[in-house]
Amino acid sequence: MDKEFIIRFENEVRETIRKHSLVNKKDRVVVACSGGKDSTTTLYLLKKFGYSVEGLIIDLLMGEWSEKNLENTRQFCRNHGIKLHVINLRDVMGCSICYVRSGIQSKEKLGNCTICGVIKRWLLNKNARELGADRIATGHNLDDEAETVLMNIFTGNPNMGRGLGPTTGVSDDKFVERIKPLYFHTNDEIRRYSKEMGFPVLYEPCPCSIGSFRRNVRRWIAVLEESNPGIRMNIANNFLRISGVLRKEAKNNVIMHCEVCGEPSRNGLCKRCRLMEIMK
Ligand code: SF4
Ligand code: ZN
Repeated sequence: MDKEFIIRFENEVRETIRKHSLVNKKDRVVVACSGGKDSTTTLYLLKKFGYSVEGLIIDLLMGEWSEKNLENTRQFCRNHGIKLHVINLRDVMGCSICYVRSGIQSKEKLGNCTICGVIKRWLLNKNARELGADRIATGHNLDDEAETVLMNIFTGNPNMGRGLGPTTGVSDDKFVERIKPLYFHTNDEIRRYSKEMGFPVLYEPCPCSIGSFRRNVRRWIAVLEESNPGIRMNIANNFLRISGVLRKEAKNNVIMHCEVCGEPSRNGLCKRCRLMEIMK
């Protein structure tokens, strides 16, 4: 075991939490688990640092992939004495994510991850709030953030980035603040940490993310990073410099509540209810 690497990694995550005031010891934190290395590392470290954490996993019912991730998360939480909440998509939507996606995609051209992400975020916020959570911690890492910044620019939507950063910075009594303790760590560093620690996780990408726009952007950044080491960090840090302006502007853009489900939304109809409309 590379003890030096582990100590450095853990100290850096602790520093991200401290510097960006992500959470305090009184907070009840729900960690959005997927069974992957990022959320498992987040769960492990928040627990290790003494925070009050519980896990929440949404079983998307994607066959063996979901079964294995659920089994791994259950095993991890059992071994570390962490309470785990499981949301089965069939109980809340009556079917698997694959069925939801094909129903929507037969009517409108939307990517797998776009649909899945909207539904997961909606369920996560609603359920974490109902559990009394003060914070939702996610495993988003530096690669994810650099990709999202560029994707928002490529699609002409930089305002979408106002919720990016180590915290979402949205204040609304129905919205549970999301925090990203791994914000400044790359995929490679987290993979190495997770492997060193022997976490029971799958390292292959989700089978349904194939062909996604994000995956293409990830490949382009990886090529650039080879000749310009540190490019991901530059993208994230430069974005953080302007995110304050975006957030200030968004203050006039008060968070609303969806006219159908009542959940927080930027528009009269939230993204999840819009998808449900398409699916009808
Ligand atoms: Fe859903 Fe995409 Fe994540 Fe797979 S990679 S779980 S399809 S958001
Ligand atoms: Zn809604």
